[in-house]
Amino acid sequence: MSDTLFHKIIRREIPADIVFEDEQLIAFRDIAPQAPVHVLFVPKRDFATLNDVPEGDAVVIGRLATAAARYAKAQGFAADGYRIVMNCNGDGGQTVFQIHLHLLAGAPLGRFGT
Ligand code: 5GP
Repeated sequence: MSDTLFHKIIRREIPADIVFEDEQLIAFRDIAPQAPVHVLFVPKRDFATLNDVPEGDAVVIGRLATAAARYAKAQGFAADGYRIVMNCNGDGGQTVFQIHLHLLAGAPLGRFGT
C-alpha cells in the first residue's frame, strides 16, 4: 500500500471523521470543507491519479460515485442536489495522490471554472 495521507487515514494512523467504510472504500469529512457537506470517497486500492486507473478497473470509479449518491440519499439531501468532483494532477488542483471523489452539498454551489 502507498503512503499518502489518505492511506494513513485508512490504516487509522491519523484520525479522520469517517462517515462510511466497507471492504473497498472509505469516506470521511474533508478537514477544510468547501461546502456545508464536504466528504471524500477514497478507494482502498492504490491509484495515484485518475490517469492511473486502467479501463478494466473502471468499476472502482463507479463505486465511489454510487457510494456518494447512497450517502446523499441516506443523509436526505440527494433531491436538493450535490456535486461530485475528482481533481487530477497539478492543473486539476490535486494535492493528495491517492484518487478520491469530493462530495459537496448543503447549499447552492457556485459555477466552477478557473
Ligand atoms: P485534492 O486537492 O487532492 O483534490 O483534495 C485533497 C483534499 O484533502 C482537500 O480538500 C483537503 O482539504 C483534504 N485534506 C488534506 N489534509 C487532510 C486531512 O488531514 N484530513 C482530512 N480529512 N482531509 C484532508
